[in-house]
Amino acid sequence: MHIRKRVLVTGGAGFLGSHLCRALLGRGHDVLCLDNYYTGTRDNIADLLLNPHFELMRHDVTFPLYVEVDEIYNLACPASPVHYQHDPVQTTKTSVHGAINMLGLAKRTGAKILQASTSEVYGDPQVHPQKEDYWGHVNPIGFRSCYDEGKRCAETLFFDYYRQHDLRIKVARIFNTYGPNMHPNDGRVVSNFIMQALANEPITIYGDGSQTRSFCYVEDLVDGLMKLMDSEDGFTGPVNLGNPGEFTIKQLAERIIAISASSSTLEYKPLPADDPLQRQPDIALAKEQLQWAPTIALDKGLELTVAYFSSLA
Ligand code: NAD
Ligand code: UDP
Ligand code: UDP
Repeated sequence: MHIRKRVLVTGGAGFLGSHLCRALLGRGHDVLCLDNYYTGTRDNIADLLLNPHFELMRHDVTFPLYVEVDEIYNLACPASPVHYQHDPVQTTKTSVHGAINMLGLAKRTGAKILQASTSEVYGDPQVHPQKEDYWGHVNPIGFRSCYDEGKRCAETLFFDYYRQHDLRIKVARIFNTYGPNMHPNDGRVVSNFIMQALANEPITIYGDGSQTRSFCYVEDLVDGLMKLMDSEDGFTGPVNLGNPGEFTIKQLAERIIAISASSSTLEYKPLPADDPLQRQPDIALAKEQLQWAPTIALDKGLELTVAYFSSLA
């Protein structure tokens, strides 16, 4: 029998959140989407506003929230380095105070709560590919620290609420994810490169382009998040969610130029400080515990994403 749940998605007007809201509604749940529109927009969820099972609330997670819900997906936090470094103090507050408030809410309501953590907890990793038992290599005082350390502290809070207050927690370590609804000026590599390729402008490669990332298509990622939420109560994670296909940034640029039939050239710019050299998830745990693995290869996902950005023009 289907049980309709009341599900809170913080950061629901953002890139991942908007896809998640849509997928949860598709599964027959009531969705409360909460966002302060720092990087998200109402446009991302415009098609949902008339749905009677969807409710949109403007709210900042650093302030307490009193609502009645069954499940919480805590996604609120800017994810692009450009945006999270714009107001780094607010970024740490969002991760830390936001986690405390959402955990307090879960404690009072008995809701199950999932944290959108990140591969950034591994920092510039000295173990490759990254498994969940790797503790990471993170600079605590650099430009990326507000994000990395904020997310690490949020994980700490999740596990302390789990041990101290018996909360039902789920922690996902999300690796680079891309797809439709990324903001064109988001600043992350996939949206930058596609916007540049479609305008036939130079593609801005930071450093020599030999650094690697592993890119997951958004539909696969959202499916993984919902499988994690639905996993047996004893399973907390942390669990890596990402696509193990690893590419250099230069290869990514070349794929995007080919797929968008662009005449763009490559332009090399300085590598930002603390930019991780390599990143690739080991997803054995997700396969075993969630029966989850990505299904959409990079070329296919890029085709879908290029089509989306083309439609904006
Ligand atoms: P995004 O920037 O598109 O979305 C984040 C959303 O959170 C935005 O709608 C923003 O307005 C909202 N927000 C920010 N601060 C808030 C606050 N204080 N109160 C309420 N809302 C707030 O980013 P995204 O890619 O959708 O990322 C969603 C989550 O997933 C983030 O927590 C991010 O750290 C995590 N994540 C994403 C990726 C990725 O590659 N997309 C990788 C790892 C982790
Ligand atoms: N909180 C919230 N919604 C709730 C319950 C709590 O936003 O429904 C916030 C509350 O402001 C508190 C935080 O969550 O600061 C942590 O709650 P907890 O019960 O763990 O701590 P305490 O209230 O004892 O500080
Ligand atoms: N990058 C790049 N050009 C851009 C944007 C990013 O070469 O226009 C690089 C960036 O230096 C990093 C990688 O692409 O090595 C991924 O960057 P992104 O900001 O998307 O996410 P990160 O994984 O660094 O958080």
